[in-house]
Amino acid sequence: MINKLFSYNIDYNLSKDIDIVQYNILPIKQYDLYILVATSDINQDPKPIIKLLNSPIKFIYIQKIYLEYEYKYIKTKIKLYQLALQALDDDITTQTNSYTTQFLNIILQLCIQNNISDIHFESLKNDLLIRLRFDGVLNQFFKFDKKLYSMISSIIKFLAHLDISQKRLPLNGRFGKQIDGDEFDFRISTMPTIYGESIVLRILNNKNIQKNLDSIGFGKSDLNKIYKNLSLTQGLILVTGPTGSGKTTTLYSMLNHLNQSSKKIITIEDPVEYKLDGIMQVNLNPQIELDYYTVLKNILRQDPDILLIGEIRDTLSAKIAIRAALTGHLVIATLHTNNSIETITRLIDLKIEPYLISSTLKMIIAQRLVRKLCNDCKQYDNQTKLYIPKGCAKCNLMGYINRTVVAEILEIDKDIASKISQNQKIKIDNFRSLNTVAQELLDQGIISKEEFLSKIDYDI
Ligand SMILES: [Zn+2]
Repeated sequence: MINKLFSYNIDYNLSKDIDIVQYNILPIKQYDLYILVATSDINQDPKPIIKLLNSPIKFIYIQKIYLEYEYKYIKTKIKLYQLALQALDDDITTQTNSYTTQFLNIILQLCIQNNISDIHFESLKNDLLIRLRFDGVLNQFFKFDKKLYSMISSIIKFLAHLDISQKRLPLNGRFGKQIDGDEFDFRISTMPTIYGESIVLRILNNKNIQKNLDSIGFGKSDLNKIYKNLSLTQGLILVTGPTGSGKTTTLYSMLNHLNQSSKKIITIEDPVEYKLDGIMQVNLNPQIELDYYTVLKNILRQDPDILLIGEIRDTLSAKIAIRAALTGHLVIATLHTNNSIETITRLIDLKIEPYLISSTLKMIIAQRLVRKLCNDCKQYDNQTKLYIPKGCAKCNLMGYINRTVVAEILEIDKDIASKISQNQKIKIDNFRSLNTVAQELLDQGIISKEEFLSKIDYDI
């Protein structure tokens, strides 16, 4: 069902001094003759509301969850609304005026506190729209007069040392900021659109990647396999999956586990997104010919114990990963494949000799990131015997809250290694495929059928 509130620029000043929760309303906008007021109660008596707002009113009816979603952030939204008005009132010539800065700070703080990954500032025909990505899905958060857009755009570009006047070409940058006592990095992308511009702020929250391997969703027996292989002094460990499957989180959790002073760890990343203490991170920079080839060819002379290769993308990077793994290094890398068996085929496609694969490859983790159903609102469907998402204020109307890794783990034992080296078809007994693992989560009511079908898209 469509949330009708999303089409309005809500005047939050109308909610400032009244207890909207108690009256089960949200005043939307002051028109010439009345105030438009949202309620979820078809039988709501208008008289107390008319008295409360001291004005004639007109009701629109919306679902209760949409009101509750507004109530969840109402204090912040009232504050944002007031700052936005003050920013417009302020001298426009001071592009980076303090009201806009405060406005942006409040949004950044809210996003960090709510574990939001991306903030979208979009100029529509008449409005500025702010949308936030919760657990991988965008949701409308705040809408305001478009005049505010250029001020926000300027302040963001200013923070990232970008050209404030450049609105016709895409720009990329980043800035760091202290929020609630911690330092956070923000990556910025701007893009000209037909109604102006769109800015996306990615929050590079180091807390998200400083996760313990135990906490990201691997099962106990899978964890034991991972820890066992991470204790090896040489060999290749591959983490695979499509974009958005949580590979980075898994890689960094592994690095956190391995990060001891007695080991030299070098990472090659394009680009480095999260800075880690105690680890030599190499940021590729093709503009000065610091590309994969140059770095990989020279990296082993840096005497690493552990090497993290952001992505094996071609024959050369695959060969260097294999060579490093053969010569006394533990190599961790990602590969863009869907499952563990396909990963081996892909390495052969990249012209790696099967005998080299079988002698270096230790483990493949093929993974996906799936959204977990919100326990507060999920509903049991008698027909399918499964839980379905509904949406409530706690999960920001999504029906889902937090995510978990679903993974299949293939350890390359002697038997599999010999099959690889002889180029034989691999068949494994007792193999827990992605499908099996995800099916268990589905049966337990942790994930939905919808999420299962959209993320676990193959059958082994
Ligand atoms: Zn919920």
